Amino acid sequence: MTMVKKLLIPLSSLAVAGCGHAQPERPNIIYVFPDQFRNQAMAFWDKPQYSEAVGWKADPVHTPRLDTFADESVVLSRAMSNCPLSSPYRGIFLTGMYPERNGITLNCMAERPESSLREDAVCISDVLNAQGYSCGYIGKLHADHPTPNDPANPGHYVSDRRPEWDAYTPAEKRHGYTYWYSYGTFDQHKNPHYWDTDGVKHEPHVWSVGHETDKAIEFLRNENGQRKKDAPFFLTIAYNPPHSPYESLDDCMEEDYNLYKDMGLDELYVRDNADTTLTKADAARYYFANVTGVDREFGRLLDELDRLGLADNTIVVFTSDHGETMCSQGTYDPKNSIYTESFNVPFIIRYPEKIRPHVDSTLLSTVDIMPTLLSMAGLSEEIPASAEGRDLSPVLMENGLECNVPESVLYIRNVNGPKGDDGMVKGFFPIARGIKTDRYTFEVAIKKNGTLSGITIFDDMNDPYQLQNIDYKTCPELFETLLGMLKNKLAEANDIWHREGTLDKLNIL
Ligand code: CA
Repeated sequence: MTMVKKLLIPLSSLAVAGCGHAQPERPNIIYVFPDQFRNQAMAFWDKPQYSEAVGWKADPVHTPRLDTFADESVVLSRAMSNCPLSSPYRGIFLTGMYPERNGITLNCMAERPESSLREDAVCISDVLNAQGYSCGYIGKLHADHPTPNDPANPGHYVSDRRPEWDAYTPAEKRHGYTYWYSYGTFDQHKNPHYWDTDGVKHEPHVWSVGHETDKAIEFLRNENGQRKKDAPFFLTIAYNPPHSPYESLDDCMEEDYNLYKDMGLDELYVRDNADTTLTKADAARYYFANVTGVDREFGRLLDELDRLGLADNTIVVFTSDHGETMCSQGTYDPKNSIYTESFNVPFIIRYPEKIRPHVDSTLLSTVDIMPTLLSMAGLSEEIPASAEGRDLSPVLMENGLECNVPESVLYIRNVNGPKGDDGMVKGFFPIARGIKTDRYTFEVAIKKNGTLSGITIFDDMNDPYQLQNIDYKTCPELFETLLGMLKNKLAEANDIWHREGTLDKLNIL
């Protein structure tokens, strides 16, 4: 079954389409994605028009800037991160390809040489650069396999940590980004470091989100030729907070922590599924402090856009690479699971000239982001054939077009393949696959010997906190339907489970 969204065609857009005038001015695009930012950690979700779209409560956070931004934007309640982990998300976002095709099947680190962004993959920044955009990347990249290429110490990794996780990305691997202020992965929020466009390392000893916003504002002002003067720009900002650590004032700003420091656990956790006996429970104060700090800095960026008169013709996206379970489901693992609080991400998109603010429940996959953004910029003809996602811009834009909206989103969980004699991980093992539908969350997990490990079914409509895993044996019709939808999705994505007939071998029907 395919659902079609129909929108009225405004007369004004027909008139413009018929004029045959010169190329319209392309919009700028700013894509902001703090790491591990729970969709629930935005206060506006408790307002009635938002609340009814999700069924869960917002965290007790202060996010005044995101609350206002949401009211000016399309807010997608069901944006899902296909493989909710740092590096795989980045590979999918940048290329519109699933992990097997873009090269990043696992988090990038030195012992996983096969998991790295393919140098010949066409990234959204490659396309926009070729169309005249100035592309800038600020913050955490975590898409390259670390190699001994420290620009200040050739032949050595960028640190003494073993195995190395952090990485320097040389100019030839930046995929069309011509302004660079980035690093691989590094988790000291008040002691961040970056390599700039010329490969010079900077260690500013300040909270990273504030510093990265300063660099973004410099890019917008273009005081030092960070971008071409009369060309549109694409700025990607990958803040690391509210990613862990979230344990002390070394991880966040005190002014933000003060908002939460006196709150008890019963006030910090308003969900039915939180287990505040986990030793992680105290982390919420620091996590929420980082959320509020990100909110403030994001607001500072928006203020600068207004000041420069750029807001109307700039598409601004606020999203994240994955969620953070924060004491739900009895797990200490914040991500890389199919639970809503890991799989679902914020996705708020503003484009004052072209979109009407509303809440939308369309299922958005990470693979859809590249084709959708290119289309919104008037570049649908330039969507590379390698992109595997859909152009869902008609859902967002008031352009009178219609599109088939997805009936499900694919969920992917991989783990290390076997280690070789050299200590290096060979390939990956696809340990779980699943889908999110408009109502259900469904996962099949296997063991490394290929036998069934477990089946998860949540009715997200009646059980938004996912407290009850429905036994598939008690609902054979539902199970068969979901299994069929998963098979369709695996085939559509040409996933390894499809190619190897993994589900059929399990004999679970
Ligand atoms: Ca991450």
